[in-house]
Amino acid sequence: MNLPPPFVPKGAVFQGIGVGQGIAIGPVHIISATNIRVHRFKLTSAQMVERELERFQEALEKTEAQYLRAKNSLPQELSGQASVFDALTTLLRDPVIAKSVDQKIRQDRINAEAAVNSTIREMARLLANINDAHIRSRSSDVEQLGQALIVAMRDPSATQQPIFQEGCVVAAFDLSPAEVSSLPAGRVVGLITEAGSQTSHAALVAQAIGLPTVMGAAGILQVLEHGDTLIVDSREGHIIRNPDADAVKFYQTSQRTLKDYQLEIVRSAHLPAVTLDDHRVDVFGNLELVEELPAIIANGGEGIGLYRTEFLYLTRPELPPEEELFEVYRRVVASAAPRPVTIRTLDLGADKILAINDTEGARQSQALGLRAIRFCLKNLDIFRAQLRAIYRAAVHGQTRVLLPMVSSLEEIRRAKELINETCEELKREGRRVAENVPLGIMVEVPAAVVLIDELAKEADFLSIGTNDLIQYTLALDRGNPEVSDLYQPFHPSILRMIKRVITAGQAAGISVSVCGDMAAGVYSAPLLVGFGADMLSMPFGVIPFVKRLLRMSFFEETKAIAEETLKAKTADEAMAFVKSTLKTKNAGMPNNFRIAS
Ligand code: PEP
Ligand code: MG
Repeated sequence: MNLPPPFVPKGAVFQGIGVGQGIAIGPVHIISATNIRVHRFKLTSAQMVERELERFQEALEKTEAQYLRAKNSLPQELSGQASVFDALTTLLRDPVIAKSVDQKIRQDRINAEAAVNSTIREMARLLANINDAHIRSRSSDVEQLGQALIVAMRDPSATQQPIFQEGCVVAAFDLSPAEVSSLPAGRVVGLITEAGSQTSHAALVAQAIGLPTVMGAAGILQVLEHGDTLIVDSREGHIIRNPDADAVKFYQTSQRTLKDYQLEIVRSAHLPAVTLDDHRVDVFGNLELVEELPAIIANGGEGIGLYRTEFLYLTRPELPPEEELFEVYRRVVASAAPRPVTIRTLDLGADKILAINDTEGARQSQALGLRAIRFCLKNLDIFRAQLRAIYRAAVHGQTRVLLPMVSSLEEIRRAKELINETCEELKREGRRVAENVPLGIMVEVPAAVVLIDELAKEADFLSIGTNDLIQYTLALDRGNPEVSDLYQPFHPSILRMIKRVITAGQAAGISVSVCGDMAAGVYSAPLLVGFGADMLSMPFGVIPFVKRLLRMSFFEETKAIAEETLKAKTADEAMAFVKSTLKTKNAGMPNNFRIAS
């Protein structure tokens, strides 16, 4: 593919967070920031309380119908993405919300809008304090849900349909997923927002409908004026205001190249990742929310390599009951079947603190505190309830269980004892229990790497969590921007550790996968394959690109490069070597195609 040269745009360039891979050029359509004003008043009679409860109920039904309409209006080929609206509907039906609003109306005697607003603020605050970008981004879903409910309680005649100019780029403070999906296709060609992030639901919808989007461009509404022309480059997160003729020409060419490329990779997403010399690598998806499952499958994910199960525990003031966990796991396992699902047991602690345990003590030395398997082995009631739900659900499809942060043999042995006890208990109760569920460990602590030969004898499979392995090996907080430049996946100690783990797994005759971010990198993914990784698991959006990248690679070449890279003495040396030798370095991708290294 003929790639245009790199281009440095002149003029006003704003930086935001790019969502998806598109370019849009068009006149701006500004949607003013709407801060919904919520009136609050006291209810002075039992009839008023009844009336407000009814209004809340009506708003729930109206909002659910609105999500259903938005979901049904998605084009057929994007039906997999309709799950975003299922997620919002699930949130809408969350009994925690209904109970809290009900209580505020009955006991605090405040009107329905104020009760919704206060409930939503409490939930959003809870979520926003969680130091996990993915989960934190859900707080904007909660906010949007609150706004939708409040709007639904308003006089319907107050809403007006805006008129969008042909080919315009919408600029807004924030949009809900339903609003994004209802932007008229064809007329609206791009979107920029001040709020939002890559993992927000609005971003998922924008990506699903192929709308080039840049989010998080804080302050941009202050400078934009009606009549401006914008270029939105979602690969780089760039917004160019009033570009010159050269910039327009450059981006028009890039737009055509990108479209051709995207068409090609989506068409091939379901082909297996078999290298040119016939070596197959499994490419799986990482799952945080059940609602992402259809997108993983639609993007060619061959299974779930990492199901992070923390989310259900973090967004509520009490522990989720076993029955609810079972139902969610059953749904995931059954919907993914015949694809395997790797359920990781709770990785609570560190940045993921239980709401009921959110104390100063729990937050101290987070990354080195009571986390993951250590937390579970000290909170047996919580662990047992999850294990019961997992082993009951595992009957409904191919399931694997993965223990996070294992650093000693005792941990895996103790976990096995608990699993056996749990399964026996379930059988005694006359329940069906899955047999022969493979039990694996995450390798993400240096101690596990040093001890890998022993651990590999106890485990049925290994999964390398490069995110934490880098954090703990290089002694730097993965969420701290001050040390982000030192967070080096190509650090020789990391590469040598990965190689060591894979070799130990091979010697023990068990499979080794990688589910940290390195599995999704344009350079690191082929390198991991060269080291001998059997499976790579990654966020759903990257699956088609990594599969394509591997289909364009020669296994023998990645092996030789991986071998040579291990000799590098510094991260820069290793990176430079891979960049200069890997023939698939562009994999036919257009310039600046955004994918991690
Ligand atoms: C990892 O550490 O690489 C990993 C996949 O786990 P998490 O990102 O959930 O900590
Ligand atoms: Mg981890």
